[in-house]
Amino acid sequence: MSRIVYVNGAYVPEEEAKLSIFDRGLLFADAVYEVTAVIERKLLDFPGHMARLRRSLAELRLPSPATDEEILAIHRELLQRNALTFGHIYLMVTRGAADRDFVWPKDGTPPSFILFTQARDGVESREAREGLRVVSVPDLRWARRDIKTVQLLYPSLAKMEAKRQGKDDAWMVEDGFVTEGTSNNAYIVTESERIVTRALSNAILHGITRAAILRGAAEAGLEVEERPFTLAEAQGAREAFVTSAGAFVTPVVEIDGLPVGDGAPGPIARRLRAIYLDEALRTGL
Ligand code: PMP
Repeated sequence: MSRIVYVNGAYVPEEEAKLSIFDRGLLFADAVYEVTAVIERKLLDFPGHMARLRRSLAELRLPSPATDEEILAIHRELLQRNALTFGHIYLMVTRGAADRDFVWPKDGTPPSFILFTQARDGVESREAREGLRVVSVPDLRWARRDIKTVQLLYPSLAKMEAKRQGKDDAWMVEDGFVTEGTSNNAYIVTESERIVTRALSNAILHGITRAAILRGAAEAGLEVEERPFTLAEAQGAREAFVTSAGAFVTPVVEIDGLPVGDGAPGPIARRLRAIYLDEALRTGL
Protein backbone atom coordinates (compact mmCIF):
# COMPACT_ATOMS: atom_id res chain seq x y z
CA MET A 1 0.00 0.00 0.00
CA SER A 2 1.33 3.40 -0.95
CA ARG A 3 1.91 5.90 1.84
CA ILE A 4 0.33 9.29 2.10
CA VAL A 5 3.12 11.84 2.54
CA TYR A 6 3.14 15.57 3.25
CA VAL A 7 4.74 18.01 0.79
CA ASN A 8 4.48 21.77 1.17
CA GLY A 9 0.94 21.88 2.50
CA ALA A 10 -0.52 18.89 0.62
CA TYR A 11 -1.17 15.27 1.62
CA VAL A 12 -0.51 13.12 -1.45
CA PRO A 13 0.27 9.49 -2.33
CA GLU A 14 4.06 9.04 -2.28
CA GLU A 15 4.19 8.50 -6.06
CA GLU A 16 2.73 11.96 -6.61
CA ALA A 17 5.00 13.86 -4.22
CA LYS A 18 7.28 16.30 -6.06
CA LEU A 19 10.07 18.72 -5.21
CA SER A 20 12.03 20.94 -7.61
CA ILE A 21 15.37 19.70 -8.99
CA PHE A 22 16.66 23.11 -7.82
CA ASP A 23 15.74 22.43 -4.21
CA ARG A 24 18.69 23.46 -2.04
CA GLY A 25 18.21 20.36 0.08
CA LEU A 26 19.13 18.32 -3.01
CA LEU A 27 21.87 20.59 -4.42
CA PHE A 28 23.59 21.75 -1.19
CA ALA A 29 22.25 19.54 1.64
CA ASP A 30 20.92 22.92 2.79
CA ALA A 31 18.34 21.31 5.05
CA VAL A 32 17.66 19.99 8.53
CA TYR A 33 15.55 17.09 9.72
CA GLU A 34 13.99 15.33 12.69
CA VAL A 35 12.84 11.77 13.28
CA THR A 36 10.15 11.18 15.87
CA ALA A 37 9.41 7.65 17.06
CA VAL A 38 5.85 6.32 17.15
CA ILE A 39 4.81 3.62 19.61
CA GLU A 40 1.21 2.54 19.98
CA ARG A 41 0.18 5.56 17.91
CA LYS A 42 1.93 7.94 20.30
CA LEU A 43 4.63 10.44 19.33
CA LEU A 44 7.61 10.11 21.65
CA ASP A 45 9.48 13.18 22.93
CA PHE A 46 7.67 15.47 20.48
CA PRO A 47 8.46 18.73 22.37
CA GLY A 48 12.15 17.76 22.47
CA HIS A 49 12.23 17.17 18.72
CA MET A 50 10.55 20.54 18.13
CA ALA A 51 13.02 22.33 20.40
CA ARG A 52 15.96 20.79 18.53
CA LEU A 53 14.36 21.57 15.16
CA ARG A 54 14.03 25.24 16.21
CA ARG A 55 17.67 25.28 17.25
CA SER A 56 18.86 23.68 13.97
CA LEU A 57 16.77 26.15 11.93
CA ALA A 58 18.15 29.10 13.89
CA GLU A 59 21.78 27.96 13.59
CA LEU A 60 21.46 27.86 9.79
CA ARG A 61 19.11 30.86 9.56
CA LEU A 62 16.59 28.65 7.78
CA PRO A 63 13.02 29.96 7.69
CA SER A 64 10.48 28.17 9.84
CA PRO A 65 7.88 26.28 7.78
CA ALA A 66 5.17 26.17 10.47
CA THR A 67 4.43 26.56 14.17
CA ASP A 68 4.93 23.66 16.59
CA GLU A 69 1.15 23.27 16.84
CA GLU A 70 0.82 23.06 13.06
CA ILE A 71 3.68 20.55 12.89
CA LEU A 72 2.01 18.42 15.57
CA ALA A 73 -1.22 18.49 13.57
CA ILE A 74 0.63 17.29 10.44
CA HIS A 75 2.21 14.44 12.44
CA ARG A 76 -1.22 13.41 13.74
CA GLU A 77 -2.76 13.58 10.27
CA LEU A 78 0.01 11.37 8.84
CA LEU A 79 -0.39 8.87 11.70
CA GLN A 80 -4.06 8.64 10.97
CA ARG A 81 -3.94 8.58 7.17
CA ASN A 82 -1.31 5.83 7.22
CA ALA A 83 -2.77 3.91 10.19
CA LEU A 84 0.70 3.94 11.73
CA THR A 85 0.98 2.17 15.08
CA PHE A 86 4.77 1.61 15.31
CA GLY A 87 7.54 3.34 13.39
CA HIS A 88 8.60 6.92 12.97
CA ILE A 89 7.86 10.16 11.22
CA TYR A 90 10.62 11.84 9.23
CA LEU A 91 10.47 15.63 8.85
CA MET A 92 12.73 17.82 6.70
CA VAL A 93 12.98 21.55 6.06
CA THR A 94 15.11 22.89 3.21
CA ARG A 95 15.96 26.45 2.17
CA GLY A 96 13.65 25.95 -0.80
CA ALA A 97 14.22 26.08 -4.55
CA ALA A 98 16.18 28.73 -6.46
CA ASP A 99 18.65 28.69 -9.37
CA ARG A 100 21.86 27.00 -8.21
CA ASP A 101 23.99 29.51 -6.33
CA PHE A 102 26.14 29.34 -3.20
CA VAL A 103 24.51 32.61 -2.17
CA TRP A 104 21.16 32.04 -0.49
CA PRO A 105 17.99 33.00 -2.37
CA LYS A 106 16.43 36.30 -1.40
CA ASP A 107 14.29 36.51 1.73
CA GLY A 108 10.78 35.28 1.16
CA THR A 109 11.73 32.16 -0.79
CA PRO A 110 9.49 29.56 0.85
CA PRO A 111 11.26 26.67 2.60
CA SER A 112 10.40 23.17 1.39
CA PHE A 113 8.72 21.12 4.06
CA ILE A 114 8.20 17.37 3.75
CA LEU A 115 7.17 14.63 6.14
CA PHE A 116 6.64 10.91 5.70
CA THR A 117 6.02 7.86 7.87
CA GLN A 118 8.09 4.68 8.12
CA ALA A 119 6.44 1.64 9.68
CA ARG A 120 7.94 -1.07 11.88
CA ASP A 121 6.40 -4.15 13.45
CA GLY A 122 6.79 -3.24 17.12
CA VAL A 123 9.39 -2.02 19.58
CA GLU A 124 11.38 -5.24 19.58
CA SER A 125 14.19 -5.91 17.13
CA ARG A 126 16.96 -8.43 16.56
CA GLU A 127 19.47 -5.70 17.45
CA ALA A 128 17.81 -5.08 20.81
CA ARG A 129 17.75 -8.82 21.57
CA GLU A 130 21.22 -9.74 20.40
CA GLY A 131 23.13 -6.46 20.57
CA LEU A 132 25.14 -4.64 17.94
CA ARG A 133 28.63 -5.45 16.71
CA VAL A 134 30.37 -2.18 15.87
CA VAL A 135 33.60 -1.24 14.12
CA SER A 136 35.53 1.98 14.61
CA VAL A 137 36.14 4.56 11.89
CA PRO A 138 37.72 8.01 12.07
CA ASP A 139 35.15 10.78 12.50
CA LEU A 140 35.52 12.72 9.26
CA ARG A 141 32.29 14.75 9.49
CA TRP A 142 32.13 18.53 9.60
CA ALA A 143 32.56 20.28 12.95
CA ARG A 144 28.90 21.28 13.58
CA ARG A 145 27.41 17.89 14.36
CA ASP A 146 25.12 19.53 16.90
CA ILE A 147 23.01 20.79 13.97
CA LYS A 148 20.80 18.02 12.60
CA THR A 149 21.54 18.59 8.90
CA VAL A 150 20.85 16.10 6.12
CA GLN A 151 24.58 15.85 5.31
CA LEU A 152 24.57 12.14 6.05
CA LEU A 153 27.04 10.98 3.39
CA TYR A 154 29.89 10.22 5.79
CA PRO A 155 27.72 8.40 8.37
CA SER A 156 26.26 6.38 5.48
CA LEU A 157 29.78 5.48 4.24
CA ALA A 158 30.77 4.53 7.80
CA LYS A 159 27.73 2.29 8.13
CA MET A 160 28.60 0.65 4.79
CA GLU A 161 32.15 0.06 6.05
CA ALA A 162 30.63 -1.76 9.05
CA LYS A 163 28.47 -3.85 6.70
CA ARG A 164 31.49 -4.58 4.49
CA GLN A 165 33.17 -6.03 7.58
CA GLY A 166 30.07 -8.12 8.31
CA LYS A 167 29.09 -5.96 11.34
CA ASP A 168 26.13 -3.78 12.28
CA ASP A 169 27.28 -0.20 12.78
CA ALA A 170 30.28 2.08 13.25
CA TRP A 171 31.47 4.20 16.16
CA MET A 172 33.34 7.30 15.09
CA VAL A 173 36.60 8.30 16.78
CA GLU A 174 38.23 11.72 16.96
CA ASP A 175 41.45 12.63 18.80
CA GLY A 176 41.45 9.17 20.36
CA PHE A 177 37.93 9.42 21.81
CA VAL A 178 34.59 8.03 20.62
CA THR A 179 32.27 10.78 19.42
CA GLU A 180 29.09 8.81 18.61
CA GLY A 181 27.59 6.14 16.36
CA THR A 182 26.58 6.79 12.75
CA SER A 183 23.02 7.60 13.87
CA ASN A 184 23.05 7.28 17.65
CA ASN A 185 24.77 8.45 20.83
CA ALA A 186 27.32 6.09 22.43
CA TYR A 187 27.67 4.99 26.08
CA ILE A 188 29.64 2.58 28.22
CA VAL A 189 29.05 1.17 31.71
CA THR A 190 32.14 0.99 33.93
CA GLU A 191 33.06 -1.76 36.42
CA SER A 192 31.58 0.43 39.18
CA GLU A 193 28.32 0.61 37.17
CA ARG A 194 28.68 4.24 36.19
CA ILE A 195 27.19 5.22 32.86
CA VAL A 196 29.66 7.20 30.77
CA THR A 197 28.76 9.26 27.72
CA ARG A 198 30.41 12.17 26.01
CA ALA A 199 29.24 15.63 27.17
CA LEU A 200 27.25 17.82 24.78
CA SER A 201 29.30 20.00 22.42
CA ASN A 202 29.51 20.73 18.70
CA ALA A 203 31.18 17.30 18.28
CA ILE A 204 27.96 15.29 18.66
CA LEU A 205 24.26 15.51 17.98
CA HIS A 206 22.33 16.44 21.11
CA GLY A 207 20.19 13.32 21.15
CA ILE A 208 16.63 13.67 22.37
CA THR A 209 16.77 10.05 23.54
CA ARG A 210 20.09 10.82 25.28
CA ALA A 211 18.43 13.55 27.34
CA ALA A 212 15.60 11.19 28.32
CA ILE A 213 18.01 8.38 29.21
CA LEU A 214 20.15 10.59 31.41
CA ARG A 215 17.01 11.78 33.24
CA GLY A 216 15.79 8.20 33.60
CA ALA A 217 19.19 6.96 34.80
CA ALA A 218 19.37 9.67 37.46
CA GLU A 219 15.83 8.87 38.66
CA ALA A 220 16.75 5.18 38.88
CA GLY A 221 19.73 6.09 41.07
CA LEU A 222 22.34 5.23 38.43
CA GLU A 223 25.45 7.40 38.35
CA VAL A 224 26.23 9.21 35.11
CA GLU A 225 29.57 10.69 34.07
CA GLU A 226 29.55 12.99 31.04
CA ARG A 227 33.06 12.68 29.64
CA PRO A 228 34.78 11.26 26.57
CA PHE A 229 35.96 7.64 26.52
CA THR A 230 38.42 5.77 24.31
CA LEU A 231 37.81 2.64 22.25
CA ALA A 232 40.09 0.70 24.62
CA GLU A 233 38.02 1.79 27.63
CA ALA A 234 34.86 0.78 25.77
CA GLN A 235 36.32 -2.62 24.86
CA GLY A 236 37.17 -3.18 28.53
CA ALA A 237 33.81 -1.90 29.81
CA ARG A 238 31.18 -3.98 31.53
CA GLU A 239 28.53 -2.91 28.99
CA ALA A 240 28.11 -0.59 26.04
CA PHE A 241 25.00 0.70 24.31
CA VAL A 242 23.61 3.33 21.94
CA THR A 243 20.49 5.48 22.00
CA SER A 244 18.38 7.11 19.29
CA ALA A 245 14.75 7.71 18.38
CA GLY A 246 14.99 4.66 16.10
CA ALA A 247 16.97 2.30 18.37
CA PHE A 248 15.68 3.52 21.78
CA VAL A 249 18.40 1.85 23.91
CA THR A 250 20.27 -0.89 22.04
CA PRO A 251 23.19 -2.86 23.52
CA VAL A 252 26.60 -2.99 21.85
CA VAL A 253 28.22 -6.41 22.37
CA GLU A 254 31.37 -6.21 20.25
CA ILE A 255 33.79 -3.43 19.28
CA ASP A 256 36.39 -4.03 16.54
CA GLY A 257 36.11 -7.81 17.05
CA LEU A 258 36.49 -7.75 20.86
CA PRO A 259 33.53 -8.68 23.09
CA VAL A 260 32.21 -6.07 25.51
CA GLY A 261 31.77 -7.66 28.94
CA ASP A 262 30.67 -11.25 28.39
CA GLY A 263 29.66 -10.48 24.80
CA ALA A 264 25.92 -10.48 25.53
CA PRO A 265 23.46 -7.60 26.12
CA GLY A 266 23.88 -6.35 29.68
CA PRO A 267 21.39 -5.71 32.50
CA ILE A 268 21.87 -1.94 32.67
CA ALA A 269 21.16 -1.43 28.96
CA ARG A 270 18.11 -3.66 29.30
CA ARG A 271 16.91 -1.75 32.36
CA LEU A 272 17.41 1.64 30.71
CA ARG A 273 15.53 0.48 27.63
CA ALA A 274 12.56 -0.54 29.79
CA ILE A 275 12.69 2.73 31.76
CA TYR A 276 12.87 4.74 28.53
CA LEU A 277 9.96 2.94 26.84
CA ASP A 278 7.77 3.26 29.96
CA GLU A 279 8.44 6.95 30.38
CA ALA A 280 8.20 7.74 26.66
CA LEU A 281 4.83 6.00 26.43
CA ARG A 282 3.59 7.74 29.56
CA THR A 283 4.54 11.20 28.22
CA GLY A 284 3.91 10.49 24.50
CA LEU A 285 1.43 12.73 22.67
N1 PMP B 1 23.79 11.05 16.88
C1 PMP B 1 23.59 11.05 15.55
C2 PMP B 1 24.74 11.29 14.65
C3 PMP B 1 22.30 10.78 15.02
O1 PMP B 1 22.11 10.78 13.69
C4 PMP B 1 21.25 10.50 15.91
C5 PMP B 1 19.87 10.18 15.40
N2 PMP B 1 19.36 11.11 14.54
C6 PMP B 1 21.50 10.53 17.29
C7 PMP B 1 22.78 10.81 17.74
C8 PMP B 1 20.42 10.26 18.30
O2 PMP B 1 19.53 11.34 18.38
P1 PMP B 1 18.01 11.12 18.83
O3 PMP B 1 18.07 10.42 20.15
O4 PMP B 1 17.47 12.48 18.94
O5 PMP B 1 17.38 10.29 17.77
